[in-house]
Amino acid sequence: MYLEVRDLVVKYGNIEALHGISFGVERGEIVTLIGANGAGKTTTLHSIMRLPPPEAPKVVSGDILLDGKSLLKVPPHDVVAKLHMALAPEGRHIFGNLTVEENLELATYARPKGSSVKDDYDRVYALFPRLAERRKQRSEQLSGGEQQMLAVGRALMTRCQFLLLDEPSMGLAPLLMYDMFRALKQLNAEGMTILLIEQNAKLALTFAHRGYLLDTGEIVTSGPCAELMHDPVVKKAYLGG
Ligand code: ATP
Repeated sequence: MYLEVRDLVVKYGNIEALHGISFGVERGEIVTLIGANGAGKTTTLHSIMRLPPPEAPKVVSGDILLDGKSLLKVPPHDVVAKLHMALAPEGRHIFGNLTVEENLELATYARPKGSSVKDDYDRVYALFPRLAERRKQRSEQLSGGEQQMLAVGRALMTRCQFLLLDEPSMGLAPLLMYDMFRALKQLNAEGMTILLIEQNAKLALTFAHRGYLLDTGEIVTSGPCAELMHDPVVKKAYLGG
């Protein structure tokens, strides 16, 4: 298994948010974690990426392994720089007063000095032509959907091989949603491993290969997406019966 989350227990202060969850992602796979508000989806991503405080959830027990090695022993900045994982966060977290291009440039900090970034800009702009058209525009002037695209583009600028996505569909109109997921499919076809967090279960289960249903900090069911779509629990709670 490429990523393996094993019996992970996570707390914020005294509150336990994940009660011992286990799941895995194979190299080249698209895996989705679905679940309602507050289920613990974002907490799971933040635990894997070892985000610094104040967001940081505290891992109390269990382990997170990448290629069999514990991520918990790796300095957090090395998760992006050396292990080639990147997060496109929910709510975008882009710098509104910087241009599209400046936001992308910021994500190149983890590169070896002097390495060329032109190919990476070209790749992001080919995937998201709307960003190319707006490259000199301040990011706060972008629509919500375009800002989501910028968050994904920025993650790609790190040259990640494993992309963690927190609700990329959030706030996207249908046409932009189509563009976004077409771009993500293309990245996967080129070899990108993807862990997708989504509230829109129907969308996620159509897009991913396998899925896990998270409910108040526990995984309640899992399997290939084609099977999960027919799972009575998933159908009743998340697919409108
Ligand atoms: P959503 O879809 O609404 O983003 P989620 O599935 O991503 O939900 P989390 O954000 O991971 O859920 O939250 C899981 C639990 O942890 C919730 O009960 C939430 O209130 C709590 N929680 C999240 N972040 C913090 C924090 N920084 N401090 C304290 N509790 C937190």
